[in-house]
Amino acid sequence: MIAKTRRTWLWALLLMLIAILLGSLVWLVGRYEQSRFEDQMEISATDLASDMRAKLSRNAQRLQVLLERETLNWDWTARQLMEERPEILRIEKRDTLLRTEVSVNSPFVKQIYSAGIFNHLGRQNFSSEVTQACVIAARSLEPAYSISYFVPVGDGTGYEVTDMCIPHVANNKVTGYLVTTYSLDGILRSWAQADTRRQEEISFRDTDGSRLATIGNSIRHGDVFAVKTILGLQGLTLILRIQSWRSAPYWLANTPTVLVLFLVIALAAVLWLLYRDTRKRLRTEAQLAREIIQQRKAEDVSRQSLERLQKSARLATLGEMASMLSHELNQPLAAIASYASGGLNLLETESPSEHGAEYLKQIKIALERITAQSERAGLVIKSVHDFVRRRETERASIAPQSLLKEVMPLLGLLAKQMGVRLELEIEKNLPPVWCDKTMIEQVIINLARNGMQAMGMHTMGAHGVGMPIQKTEAPDIKRRILTLTARASDAEHVTGAVQVEFHIQDRGLGLTQEVSDKLFTPFFTTKMEGMGLGLSLCRTVIEQHGGSLTYTTNTEPPLTGTTFSFKLMTHHATLA
Ligand code: ADP
Repeated sequence: MIAKTRRTWLWALLLMLIAILLGSLVWLVGRYEQSRFEDQMEISATDLASDMRAKLSRNAQRLQVLLERETLNWDWTARQLMEERPEILRIEKRDTLLRTEVSVNSPFVKQIYSAGIFNHLGRQNFSSEVTQACVIAARSLEPAYSISYFVPVGDGTGYEVTDMCIPHVANNKVTGYLVTTYSLDGILRSWAQADTRRQEEISFRDTDGSRLATIGNSIRHGDVFAVKTILGLQGLTLILRIQSWRSAPYWLANTPTVLVLFLVIALAAVLWLLYRDTRKRLRTEAQLAREIIQQRKAEDVSRQSLERLQKSARLATLGEMASMLSHELNQPLAAIASYASGGLNLLETESPSEHGAEYLKQIKIALERITAQSERAGLVIKSVHDFVRRRETERASIAPQSLLKEVMPLLGLLAKQMGVRLELEIEKNLPPVWCDKTMIEQVIINLARNGMQAMGMHTMGAHGVGMPIQKTEAPDIKRRILTLTARASDAEHVTGAVQVEFHIQDRGLGLTQEVSDKLFTPFFTTKMEGMGLGLSLCRTVIEQHGGSLTYTTNTEPPLTGTTFSFKLMTHHATLA
């Protein structure tokens, strides 16, 4: 739970850091774009100003012609010139005292004022500006400009104009002037082209900032960028200002912006994929953990049920055995009783002094026999006790001999009951095997019992299946042999692992195909009192020990019979 919270926090932190990183990147690109944009505007403003200065001086050169010419053609030439140059509103030729000799108005000036822009108020009202320009021009012998001034035309509008005064110089003396009235608006319209893509406004401003003439878009939206440059003319200083509103499409069309945008999207996608992957992995891990726990539980349950099954099978065997046990114990007990009563008789009837040593010797023999018989009875009881006692599953290194020998008293009982001879063939110097002693003993007992019962069938026929056979009906006793073998496995040489093979061989009728098919199926039995659990139990136990329970069978006389086999590994082999 804590790990999960921590993970969530780490993810949040990572996302936040990346967001900050990307945010700064976008901001920096924005800054870079802005400064680039401003640089461009600065350049275009200075270019525009110098271009205007050049065009004004070119105009001045052309106008010079009007000073040289005789008055005869003057009107026509001036009008011609004004048709080409709409920024010029009026041209006057003046004498040295600045009296107007002749004047022509621009054909572009509104028709109602056909008499020219000044006629509404009279040219004399604006003579001080002309005088100022011409004084400077006379002093420098160069064209000079008046300060800009506004000429109203009566309908609320008007023209912001400047007069350019060109002196006529002959022999270093001024002989007259040519005064040209420029419209500032006209200058902008003719020579400046507002960039509509940038939503520009280009204007002339006074040095104090007031707007004199403007062209272009003046609707304000978005960020405003403005650059100013000075258009310095003799006698007149104008500020040329370019103002621009950057709009979204322009901003998007930039390569760095698109790159950053792409980066942001790619990063977000990668992060998302990473997140999804991690989630998937964590979920799978959790699922796996749950499955493992469930599997462990299931294993536990099956182990428990196996143990229960084993216990009930063992109890079933025990029930069968109880009667045989009492019979078997009868013999030593009867012997003990008779030796004891013999001894007693001896003590009561005879006088010890008469026979001396012989008397004592007989009593000693009786007591020795009593001891031997009680030991035998004790052994029988102990083997049953060992068998029944429920122990926890635990494995240990066990000598194969002791595995077989410990079950012998019990098997001996059964064999005697069924008229079967037991044969033990144990190879010498076998290594100890790694196993659960009780379980393997149970397997051996089950297999041996099955073998003995199979030989019982042999004599009793199909009907007497599994029934203990009567001693009186025990023909063919030479053939009823159950052989228990333990020997080192041949496979040892191949795999390098030491294994011990166990074989339980009977001389019964063998297994028919039908029985073979169902042999290990739980509850399959051909015996009247059978449970059908023995073999499946045996197989499970052997498999738990890492081996497999196999069998060979022969139904063809005279070599009929079945051999059940399994192998056990030594401790050394299980570790390898
Ligand atoms: P049960 O002994 O209780 O019948 P098992 O699982 O031990 O249960 O055996 C199942 C059946 O397999 C037996 O009923 C018998 O028909 C057959 N069987 C087992 N061992 C032998 C054998 N050595 N020879 C012939 N038949 C056998």
